[in-house]
Amino acid sequence: MKEEEIKKVSDDINDANFNNLLQWNKSGVVSKVEILASNNSCENCKSHNGKIYSIGDAIKNKPLPCKNCNNEVYGYCRCTYLPVVE
Ligand SMILES: [Zn+2]
Repeated sequence: MKEEEIKKVSDDINDANFNNLLQWNKSGVVSKVEILASNNSCENCKSHNGKIYSIGDAIKNKPLPCKNCNNEVYGYCRCTYLPVVE
């Protein structure tokens, strides 16, 4: 993939992730989210796998996209938030 295409795909993923947070926050059902890395995520992203944030913290601090992602194959990782329903 060309660099601008990589940027576009990763922006789309990040937008979708953030929109999920906003929707869940609005729903009132979800109070926490868990970071889910994928099998081909880089080591830095994998180290965040399973971390849990309150939805307010996630919206404020944006743990995704992972700041120190160093995926050399794709240029980004497909990390997502999972809703934690209690
Ligand atoms: Zn990564």
